Amino acid sequence: MAARYAVGVDVGGTKIYAGVIELESGKVVGSQRKRTHPERGLDFFVKRLTDVITSALDAADLPKGAAPLGIGVGIAGQVDRESGVLLTGPNLGQGLDNLPIRDLLQKQFKLPVYLGNDVEVATYGEHHYGAGRDCDDFVCIFVGTGIGAGIIQNGVMRRGVTGTAGEIGHTVVQYDGRLCGCGGRGHLEAYASRTAITRVLLAELGRGRESKLRELLAPKDIAIRSKLIARCIEEGDQLVIETVIEAADYLGAGISSLATFYNPDRIILGGGLIDATTLLFDRTALRTHESTLPAATRALAVHRAQLGDDSGIIGAAWMAEAQQVNALT
Ligand SMILES: [Zn+2]
Repeated sequence: MAARYAVGVDVGGTKIYAGVIELESGKVVGSQRKRTHPERGLDFFVKRLTDVITSALDAADLPKGAAPLGIGVGIAGQVDRESGVLLTGPNLGQGLDNLPIRDLLQKQFKLPVYLGNDVEVATYGEHHYGAGRDCDDFVCIFVGTGIGAGIIQNGVMRRGVTGTAGEIGHTVVQYDGRLCGCGGRGHLEAYASRTAITRVLLAELGRGRESKLRELLAPKDIAIRSKLIARCIEEGDQLVIETVIEAADYLGAGISSLATFYNPDRIILGGGLIDATTLLFDRTALRTHESTLPAATRALAVHRAQLGDDSGIIGAAWMAEAQQVNALT
């Protein structure tokens, strides 16, 4: 049988990443990524999105006669899957609200297009090609700018009554605690996301704490990249190590509540910050096991995600085929 291909696109507030995926193996045969620049508005975004997909197709250089069977898009926001419209994306700016992404891309590329949420498609990626391949009952948690989760229950994505299941970043880990980006207080995301870690580190630097970050950060930096955090840990920077351990303790507390209540077979941890540092993963796994009810933790395994940054594009490509054959789970 000839190889099957689909295009997968991962749209976030920072970058747009597209890849052509060989669907049997999940191999990325060509890809392109560029910064999103949501502040530049609607026309820029649409052109950038189509440019990135075109470049990924060019880079893939598929064999003669081979063509992608569709385009799957995972986007950081709420989507209407039926109509293929982005309803709203907090990190994408209000200018993109209600954007009919499916129709725009179908017109441009003459291929069927399917829209999903970014965490949802990354979970599909891990389920079918990564750390959840052999498992039909797990929760995939991604730690980055925010914290989101996808739930696979009996092999099927559990979305919840109003489609918001998996919002673990907005569960309470500290009553009346830190203010969260959503307006609530004490939410996990306000303690364990990269945004939260950045905020603590910048505040501590402001109070005069010593750290290698003083040399490594530019004066106007308002975000600290995962790789920089990882480098400081490797070099034994006390401030960064303490801050990441504190974040891991909260993350472990949040995940142990989830595991005690929901009793999944497996927790899969992924996202930029988890990929970059072993300290965050190891400490979170330890805390999760320590705090979960023993009866629930007996069978609980905490795994690292396997696809890294590619989980979104691979899962989005998988979704494009699954939608066509009505096998979406
Ligand atoms: Zn929140």
